[in-house]
Amino acid sequence: MDCLFCKIVEGSIPSNKVLENEHVVVFHDIQPAAPVHVLVIPKKHIASMNEVAGEDFGLVAEIHKAAQEAAKQLGIAESGYRLINNCGKDGEQTVHHLHYHVLGGARLGALTG
Ligand code: C5P
Repeated sequence: MDCLFCKIVEGSIPSNKVLENEHVVVFHDIQPAAPVHVLVIPKKHIASMNEVAGEDFGLVAEIHKAAQEAAKQLGIAESGYRLINNCGKDGEQTVHHLHYHVLGGARLGALTG
C-alpha cells in the first residue's frame, strides 16, 4: 500500500520518533505549526476517523494514551496542549492514514470568538 505513514511505521521513511509501542507511533511533524508538534498514528492502516469501527475504537484510546504520555515526555503536559484530528476534505486531511496532532509549547489562541 502506498501510504506515507505506513512507511513511517515500517521505517522505510525516516521520522523523528518520540515513542512507539505495539499499537502506535508518535513522531515530530516535519512542518511544525507550534513549538511542540507531534503526530500520533496507529500502526494499523485506517484511512481516517470515518473508517474507525468496532474494536479499532480501542486504538483511539491508545492514541489518547500515547498523546498524554508524549505530552509529559515533551514537557507540555502541565502548560497544556491541543489534540486535533483532521478528517476528510473540509477537515483539511492531507495524509490518509489516521493521525492526531499534539500541539503545544505556546498559547495557541482560542478556536472561537
Ligand atoms: O491533518 P493533516 O493530514 O493535514 O496533517 C498531515 C501532517 O503530516 C502535516 O502536519 C504534515 O506536516 C505532516 N507530515 C509529516 N511527515 C511527512 C509528511 C507529512 O510530518 N513525511
